[in-house]
Amino acid sequence: MSCPLTSYHTHSQLHQELLSLAERHPRHARLFMVGSSSLGHPLVGIRLSRDLSRLEGPPRAGPLRTRPRVKLIGNMHGNEPVGRELLLYFARYLLESDARRSDPRASAMLDNVDLHILPTMNPDGFARGEEGKCSGGSYRAGRLNEGRRDLNRDFPDFYEWTLLREEPNYTEKDLYDRRQTETKHLMNWILRGNFVLSANFHDGAVLVNYPWDNYHDRERGSGVFRTPDHEEFYMLATGYSLSHATMPNTSAACEQWGHFQDGVTNGADWYPVFGGMQDFNYLFAGTMEVTVEISCCKFPHSRRLLREWEYNKDSLFNFVEQAQKGIMGEVREEAGNRPVPGARIRVRRVGRHQSPSERDWRDSSVTTDESGVFWRILVPGVYDVQAFVTKADPQTKERKTTSTSEVRRVVVQDEKRHRIVNFTLKKYRNKDDDGDDADPATVRSPPAPPSPRPATPPTSEEDAVDSSQIVQTAQPARLRSSKTLSPSDQRLVFQ
Ligand SMILES: [Zn+2]
Repeated sequence: MSCPLTSYHTHSQLHQELLSLAERHPRHARLFMVGSSSLGHPLVGIRLSRDLSRLEGPPRAGPLRTRPRVKLIGNMHGNEPVGRELLLYFARYLLESDARRSDPRASAMLDNVDLHILPTMNPDGFARGEEGKCSGGSYRAGRLNEGRRDLNRDFPDFYEWTLLREEPNYTEKDLYDRRQTETKHLMNWILRGNFVLSANFHDGAVLVNYPWDNYHDRERGSGVFRTPDHEEFYMLATGYSLSHATMPNTSAACEQWGHFQDGVTNGADWYPVFGGMQDFNYLFAGTMEVTVEISCCKFPHSRRLLREWEYNKDSLFNFVEQAQKGIMGEVREEAGNRPVPGARIRVRRVGRHQSPSERDWRDSSVTTDESGVFWRILVPGVYDVQAFVTKADPQTKERKTTSTSEVRRVVVQDEKRHRIVNFTLKKYRNKDDDGDDADPATVRSPPAPPSPRPATPPTSEEDAVDSSQIVQTAQPARLRSSKTLSPSDQRLVFQ
């Protein structure tokens, strides 16, 4: 093991370090491979969680015992490597502090989160970068991958998302066409990972940037462009920035970019990015990803790394711990009581008047995993929550609701502990199956993810369901028979 945070690791040193961590902490750490870079360097990461073997294997029946999956990704732009080193050290810090019992927060993180750390997704670009060089956006400078592409402009965007939903001849395979090797591997990982929360680390500014990164209306070119989960994204982004030593005062931390309130910005409002990774995560996988800009100098001298760790340590903890905010639960079918993978979850905030309308429903790409479990990050408040399943007609891509649960009312409090809300699905039947607009799912809806994540069977007793957390069950769902008001009438509405 090298002396930490004194120099940048080459790719083989990084690989060695991860290997060594996994070997010394075999119960709680495991290497994973996302794929290989254009030049054949493995995109290797480390998965951290207490007693990992108990999270692996086929799904088992029983109480809910999974943990929210969080990913942290560094070095997307090759010459922005501070996150690469901080993430590598974060993995080491968590495992060693837990082994020594020297930091209860590290041990609690292993207990509560299924953390996936990928220190670099652009090793080829990193090899071209030059330590001490604070700017540069070219291939030679190391920003781009070997295919001379900016990987943060190479992901499917809203346009492809619309094609996938509406164009019968456009398939998931088409999404991958003409993408860079690294992008394809990351897409695959994101689409199949069922991650709840994610951060992607860059340099060249000091702030946190949250979706949307790009306007969906070509006419529009300025101003904040909010997702339906704007408040949640703001909470997540400030969960990082406000715990950071210098980020709350962005203009002092990085003069060239000026002031950003609370050290955060909406991506599109800062500058629109077409094909960015954070929008892809949210739109296609329901994963809430933010982009963290750590160092004003893109590739600072390695003597700076220790200070950067001190600046970012609390932020890293605080950010990942936020995966526990909101709700989680299990969706089962009434007949047979089997877990339902791929069920979708919609929520609506209940205001003071307690009578939210159909239009208040917020749908997103959040779905249950292979063991029928979902996680949904929410800011504190009172919510109605409902699970449902839709099926798409392969010819027309029109989606129809096939089953729904009752609507449950839940109070989410300001704490890092999820509320548990379980659902039972009943077959959805229209009053008039022959009617033109009888099925509430005739409105086109977001795509279901290609396949649920690998199973995560029970881990420990303390994760078992606490039914006392469920506050109130509202009346059974009565879905309106209307093309405009349905569970699948997506309020990913993109106004
Ligand atoms: Zn960058």
